[in-house]
Amino acid sequence: MTCIFCQILARELPGEILYEDEDLGVINDINPEAPVHLLIIPKRHFDSLNSLDDKTAQIGAKMFLAAKKMAEAQGIQSGYKVLINNGREVGQEIRHLHMHLMGGWGRRPVRK
Ligand code: 5GP
Ligand code: ZN
Repeated sequence: MTCIFCQILARELPGEILYEDEDLGVINDINPEAPVHLLIIPKRHFDSLNSLDDKTAQIGAKMFLAAKKMAEAQGIQSGYKVLINNGREVGQEIRHLHMHLMGGWGRRPVRK
């Protein structure tokens, strides 16, 4: 069965895609823990960060760059944090690699 993030990025499930390119999609977290809380998700399915290797490392680099660009787009470039939960024991709920981008506590959020 296809995972929920694969389904959202394939537009098989509702979910507003804020940004996408050939490698990544970005959506709002359904249960935000910050005024701006986005999820940066590779289109290719990787279970977790553990699934990346030398051949796919560029995906990780692209995720960081997308975080920077999305922080700028959301007007939170002066302060934000990124997080990847890797493994159920630290709270990885969705088994599809994704990076949380959180910020906006100091200002009104700009949500699209
Ligand atoms: P994790 O705990 O795996 O690092 O993060 C999963 C995140 O995905 C959680 O913050 C949760 O709120 C979010 N989430 C779970 N299901 C959905 C969904 O169907 N749509 C969206 N947009 N976010 C989801
Ligand atoms: Zn997936």
